[in-house]
Amino acid sequence: MNAEIIAVGSELLLGQIVNTNARFLSQQLAVLGINVYYHTVVGDNPDRLKSAIEIAEQRSNLIIFTGGLGPTKDDLTKETIARHIGKNLVMDQTALESIEHYFKKTNRIMTENNRKQALVLEGSKILPNDHGMAPGMVVEGDGIIYMLLPGPPKEMEPMFSQYGANAISLQYDAKEKIVSRVLRFFGIGEAALETEIIDLIDNQSNPTIAPLAGDSEVTLRLTAKHIDPDSANTMLDEVEKAINKRVGKFFYGYDNTSLMKELTKCLKNKNLTLAAAESLTGGLFQEELTGIPGASSVLKGGVVCYSPEVKQQVLGVKQETIEKYGVVSEQCAIELAENAAGLISTDIGISFTGVAGPDELEGKPVGTVYIGIAIKGRPTIVEKLNLGGTRAANRIRSVKFGCYFLLR
Ligand code: ATP
Ligand code: MG
Repeated sequence: MNAEIIAVGSELLLGQIVNTNARFLSQQLAVLGINVYYHTVVGDNPDRLKSAIEIAEQRSNLIIFTGGLGPTKDDLTKETIARHIGKNLVMDQTALESIEHYFKKTNRIMTENNRKQALVLEGSKILPNDHGMAPGMVVEGDGIIYMLLPGPPKEMEPMFSQYGANAISLQYDAKEKIVSRVLRFFGIGEAALETEIIDLIDNQSNPTIAPLAGDSEVTLRLTAKHIDPDSANTMLDEVEKAINKRVGKFFYGYDNTSLMKELTKCLKNKNLTLAAAESLTGGLFQEELTGIPGASSVLKGGVVCYSPEVKQQVLGVKQETIEKYGVVSEQCAIELAENAAGLISTDIGISFTGVAGPDELEGKPVGTVYIGIAIKGRPTIVEKLNLGGTRAANRIRSVKFGCYFLLR
């Protein structure tokens, strides 16, 4: 199966927005084992859209459209495709009810235009929109599958993941179900992780293993196809086991989780409270943590101890520690973590002290970071990092490493 993605929208051609929909869909289709040979971008113009469709039909048998399903006059995707493939647009009751419900829920007045969004291509399979109004749809004609998806990524992405991927597999093989699972790793680079499991990646065609790196984390998406979804899940369990035998110590969670979410969950389950002493991260750790629902039962508070004076006067770091070892030191990290936990009366204290950059400090190179972890009843530990990145990257990575060390 050869796929082509046609992104519709003049704002894409004007450079006002980036075509992230094509990127997302290409990644997803790769996982499904479908080749994407072309990305096309076309403006909100029915004639040019029609010729883009004609070209796509010559070379692709799965054509995915994004954008132009909205209620306004420039939203023409559905109408243009309907005319081109000779199908009528019919009112879909379920979609209409869901749009009416959406307006009620958001306390807005529904206009006649919005009814237009419930018009679907006759004979198409509907993809529900859980995050907006316009439903997506899939229809087949002359051996070509046409899939229509809304433009806004926050509607399109979950629609494709939830319903679109399966709809494709149903169209080209009515028997197979696609089940996928994302494994998340931290503390190992993409290249290193891939090297560890390259034979597994190369020898697998079902399930497939697709690595993706970003935000100093690596994820592996495992995808299995089977008639029976339970068997597909068992296949995923087996590959997961084989992968974790090699790189399990870097694994921290599944699917859409994050290090912070896992940390919050873990401390909450264990009924443990946390205090932070943040120098180079300047509150970033607490900012990230308070972004997670449920953080209040975990984080009691902390100190942004950027200057040596605050480290001494508020957190009681000894003058001689600073004179002898400097603020970027194991000894300072220990005192900061222990004293933060003491000052705020928590089970755990975590500290961050280091050189964010761009200049070195105390003769220590950019990216030198000490993270102290003081847990009640245990000896305090300090982890040293040599990050050497930009200022922003060093701060963010320090926060992530802090989470990771706490999780272990
Ligand atoms: P709406 O109901 O919001 O009008 P629509 O399906 O008609 O949705 P468009 O009007 O084409 O979609 O686009 C709506 C918004 O979605 C755009 O302003 C843009 O922010 C985003 N968007 C559209 N296409 C893309 C794309 N290819 N990549 C990323 N974002 C996109
Ligand atoms: Mg629109």
